[in-house]
Amino acid sequence: MKLPMIDLKAQYIELKSEIDAAIEHILDEQSFIMGEPVSKFEESLRQYLGVKHAYGCASGTDALQLALMALDLGAGDEVITTPFTFAATVEVVALLKAIPVYADIDPMTFNMDVNKVEALITSKTKAIVPVHLYGQAADMDELMEIGRKYDIPVIEDAAQAMGAMYKGRPVTSIGDLACTSFFPAKNLGAFGDAGGVFTNDDTYGNKMKFLRVHGSDKRYVHDMIGVNSRLDSLQAAILDVKLTKLDVWNKRRDVIADLYREGLENVDVVTPTCKSDRTHIYQQFTIRSKSRDALQAHLHKEGIPCAVHYPIPLFKQPAFHDAKYDATCPETIKAAEEVLSLPMYPHMTEAHVEMVVKAIKNFF
Ligand SMILES: *Cc1c(COP(=O)(O)O)cnc(C)c1O
Repeated sequence: MKLPMIDLKAQYIELKSEIDAAIEHILDEQSFIMGEPVSKFEESLRQYLGVKHAYGCASGTDALQLALMALDLGAGDEVITTPFTFAATVEVVALLKAIPVYADIDPMTFNMDVNKVEALITSKTKAIVPVHLYGQAADMDELMEIGRKYDIPVIEDAAQAMGAMYKGRPVTSIGDLACTSFFPAKNLGAFGDAGGVFTNDDTYGNKMKFLRVHGSDKRYVHDMIGVNSRLDSLQAAILDVKLTKLDVWNKRRDVIADLYREGLENVDVVTPTCKSDRTHIYQQFTIRSKSRDALQAHLHKEGIPCAVHYPIPLFKQPAFHDAKYDATCPETIKAAEEVLSLPMYPHMTEAHVEMVVKAIKNFF
């Protein structure tokens, strides 16, 4: 048996009859863009997350761009974020001609070190963008306090953390604005690209709602310069079905994480931890090892899939290799050399976990 990194087929099989019926309904209707399934899914998201505004869009990357556009982010503005994330988080900042300013990470959680943020604030800072990396919420209370103190909005990048809780509240409901991705491999994944934006603020909410459809509220009247970032009805209908299983699947991820931790207890790797006031949904189960590259090569030889999220800190990426994007973040550099994500998906069995653990033990 070949072990996969994730198993999307198992999710589909579990919900096949409901998903197939939802797709068939749309094929019958032939209404593909922003139809009733989109508003229904948006309402489901509002209920599930307890937010006032939830809007589907075309991807997680677009969601981040829409949130930044809602703040009128422009040339020369600065955005404080983490350099240890998927490139999309800062790509959109740079696309809008603003400057990403990097706060180093906390080596225990891989999230933005909140103690590093305040010193980076200048008169040009327009937003703080924490990422709930691997599925665990960033230190939102501390970040919101800094945001309030300097009147700077906080945008949550929750692309890896749908359903994760922070002090009893779901992520996406805490920041001034929030974004997520429904990319197929995310813990709530569509059958193609999709994303969402969230806020409790009416001004930001209405702006994002219309920015995603060419800045237009009334047909052929354009109040703002927007983009085309609509959510397909097909994706919305599929996501609405999958959302009903999200909590069950997230809990199962947590159980698998515990199995991994037990198995790796006396092995010379650092397993991920979760702070006691929040939940972790383990979009990735990411360990640290001083001999990461050799361990990864060994696991691949044994047929165990594994991946590095992320090998290059964003300030070292060729696209951002400009003096204006540079940063000093030693914890990020170290993490990029040591992290290794193991197979993780809700339908993973105990035997699967044992296979991975055994292969790691063989290496040591
Ligand atoms: C996946 C991801 C994105 C981008 O989402 P897409 O839907 O692929 O555009 C942004 N931020 C983070 C942290 C991600 O993991």
